[in-house]
Amino acid sequence: MKDRFQRDIDYLRISVTDRCNLRCFYCMPEDGIDKKEHDDILRDEEIISAVKAAVKLGLKKIRITGGEPLVRKGIYTLIKNISTIDGVEEVVLTTNGLLLKGNVKRLKDAGVKRVNMSLDTLNETTYKNITRSTHAIDYHAIITELIEENMQPIKLNAVLLKGINDHEIPDFIKLADRYNLHVRFIELMPIGQLDYNYKQHFISKDDVLLKYPELQFEKKYRIAEYYTMPSHKGKIGFINPISHHFCDQCNRLRLTADGNLKPCLHTNEEINIRQLDSIELYNTFKQAIHQKSSRHSLHKNTKPIDRSMNKIGG
Ligand code: SAM
Ligand code: SF4
Repeated sequence: MKDRFQRDIDYLRISVTDRCNLRCFYCMPEDGIDKKEHDDILRDEEIISAVKAAVKLGLKKIRITGGEPLVRKGIYTLIKNISTIDGVEEVVLTTNGLLLKGNVKRLKDAGVKRVNMSLDTLNETTYKNITRSTHAIDYHAIITELIEENMQPIKLNAVLLKGINDHEIPDFIKLADRYNLHVRFIELMPIGQLDYNYKQHFISKDDVLLKYPELQFEKKYRIAEYYTMPSHKGKIGFINPISHHFCDQCNRLRLTADGNLKPCLHTNEEINIRQLDSIELYNTFKQAIHQKSSRHSLHKNTKPIDRSMNKIGG
């Protein structure tokens, strides 16, 4: 369905949980406070009903996200049940990857076509600092497993954090070359309660390109701008919601784990979908599409929205 600005809204991002096995400092509170009770989180049947209503309006691409989606109990069955709904063309997943090892085939069998793995650093100590956890991640093994299962293109997403991981850009370019990956650098967004210095850590795509002029522009594809490094395999993408907003390309709605439809990531506007029958669900999705604004107003230095990213579904 087209919205008021003639954008074709065909993409639904579903957060299946607000829980996570990491605590990335820019995403969620360290103590993970304000966890929802089990009953506050959409049940499998509610998610399925929501997807059935959404496909009727032409939302045919589904992204499963969170929190960390792979910590949800029964996630493989839920994904299978979503991917087999009539009208669902593609189910993809965003994950921090910690639970991917040994499970890629299972995900593929459940219907996941591609995986975006979030990885902000290739350094073990920095990983622990960013994620405020004691975990380590064997990303080589995971990437290898994704390649073996033919889940290309494999996209690795890294939030750029000035003074923390920006010096690792050449390492990410080498990793993209080694495995023929799409490494995508995402600009840090001011979302939720900022208990760190946002301005100190923000770094824009233009800052990066000034430092690495050898990166050659290839193409713009939806929300990402892709570059290549001469004589290297793989692609380097930039997702620039702050410096070069892409709202005119926005094709999505978000469904939060507690059952709220969000027309835009950067506003507090939400429409609850719990307890609705199939006709009401359909009408509510339609209303959410209608309510989408033309663009976000982060450039106006407005207050960050209340929900932290883990409670929205990035
Ligand atoms: N746990 C999964 C993961 O990390 O991929 C899925 C959920 S996470 C909220 C989805 C994406 O949002 C991750 O790539 C994460 O880095 C990104 N993200 C979270 N907070 C962000 C912020 N403030 N600015 C930019 N990206 C953010
Ligand atoms: Fe968890 Fe993903 Fe947020 Fe990190 S970015 S805390 S992995 S939900």
